[in-house]
Amino acid sequence: MRSIRPWLVAPGTLFALSLFFLSPTNGPQRAAADDKAETSKAAADKKLSMVQRNREETAPGSGKYRVVERQVDWDPAHTAIIVCDMWNQHWCQGATARVAEMAPRMNDVLNAARQAGVLIIHCPSDTMKFYQDAPQRKIAQQAPKVELKKMPANWCPQSDGKEPPLPFDNSKDRCDCSPQCAHGNPWRRQIDTLEIADSDAITDNDEAFYLMRDRNIQNVIVLGVHTNMCVLGRPFSIRRMCAQGQNVVLVRDLTDCMHDSLSPPLGLDHFRATDLVIEHIEKYWCPTITSPDLLAGAPFSFKEDKRPSVVMVIGEDEYETAATLPPFADEELTSRGLRVTTIHASKDDLQDFRGLEALKNADLMLVSVRRRTPKTAQLAAIRDFVASGKPVVGIRTASHAFSLRDDKEPPADHAAWPEFDAQVLGGHYTGHHGKNGDGGASTYVQSLAAAKDHPILANVDDKEFGAQSWLYKTNPLAKSATPLMIGRAEGRDTNEPVAWTNKTETGNRVFYTSLGSPPDFELPAFRRLLTNGIFWALDKPFPADTAASK
Ligand SMILES: [Zn+2]
Repeated sequence: MRSIRPWLVAPGTLFALSLFFLSPTNGPQRAAADDKAETSKAAADKKLSMVQRNREETAPGSGKYRVVERQVDWDPAHTAIIVCDMWNQHWCQGATARVAEMAPRMNDVLNAARQAGVLIIHCPSDTMKFYQDAPQRKIAQQAPKVELKKMPANWCPQSDGKEPPLPFDNSKDRCDCSPQCAHGNPWRRQIDTLEIADSDAITDNDEAFYLMRDRNIQNVIVLGVHTNMCVLGRPFSIRRMCAQGQNVVLVRDLTDCMHDSLSPPLGLDHFRATDLVIEHIEKYWCPTITSPDLLAGAPFSFKEDKRPSVVMVIGEDEYETAATLPPFADEELTSRGLRVTTIHASKDDLQDFRGLEALKNADLMLVSVRRRTPKTAQLAAIRDFVASGKPVVGIRTASHAFSLRDDKEPPADHAAWPEFDAQVLGGHYTGHHGKNGDGGASTYVQSLAAAKDHPILANVDDKEFGAQSWLYKTNPLAKSATPLMIGRAEGRDTNEPVAWTNKTETGNRVFYTSLGSPPDFELPAFRRLLTNGIFWALDKPFPADTAASK
């Protein structure tokens, strides 16, 4: 098992730091330089701290990609946001409605970013006439022209050699409304929900890059519509900006695709279609982020997006679940029709789980946290979720998620929940049986005969298998728990439950497994067990595998 710890690699951090340290500190312009250093320090304090998701080829030329999430810091003073084609009206009524639905959250994000020092560039294509006298239009027009690396001027088409065709065909330019909408060009301006401040710029062409070059901006955040069309192809957007060597990210919860449900693959859900384009972008063009990277609150989702929502709360350093859970979610859950949000403890403050507001709209919480005491409001969000009676899944260190060793008191404004194991998971964690010294399996796991018909064990090999995770001491389970699998420690005459369900006083359907080390994620039995556990907790049947084929 290769070790993957993307948290330790944050290229953007180096970039931000190098900007800071490049400030001159002596010479005739000493005073001005000091001012600059102050400004630079203030900017560094206000850094944009984001979780960038990418898809990286597992081996060069293999064509197999795996999701990687990294915490990266960007300096807002060197960052611009491109607002792509958020028109007041589209020929497709569905598209027009979704733009209107998304615009309030987008406006809040733009306000926050602008306050942090990010340049906002509004790019409603073909509507420059409406803005011809606006001072923000002049800001873009006055940027000195610079040479652009080769690419067609007005539209950057699919780039042969760099990317395959998009995951679905929309060349006929049709929508998936029923009946389909009639074509036209009804857009006249940007939707007025999005405020345009004095410091913003407006353009729909190469001026966007001229302006970035003029302001020493290398980082570009793209949001808007449509993911499979203008977001990729417009001269101010992803393909062009990547070709100029900019660092580009797409905000994946503030975009929407144009999709025709009558084109193959037939029956593809509209929001899953957007996801497929986002996957394409992550493979071939640039990483993506979500709006909570820029502003507190839950990621945006459309009300028509009915997919069950799973929120994974990740904060532990022992078992690398920050690296294993995102690709697991992508390969086993998203592909089977669930919508997954990952919440990572901040690399700068291990007790800070930014974005936990997502739990408010979640259908299931998965916990992979070890000995953290979140901020009081964040732990309250976790308690509220449990109190709501919704499903909870825990893996490995979830049994000692929210308590410090020896029940030490949490710091001020932080809270602990030492009874989470007993009250929610139904377990009784008291340590572990140690590691197999010779590097082989530490635990041998087997399904219990009494549980063989349980849906969580469907298609999980009922033969004993070896796992690297050393055996946790979990006995005795709560009376409300039902054990499914048992483990014995290598070289010891001891058994402990390693997978069980629990029914809490608040009615939550709970699944827990003490497995979850990085090599376990390579075991088909573990992957199926965890996937089954999540679908069981959601009270949903496991979907036919054809739905997951990708
Ligand atoms: Zn339509």
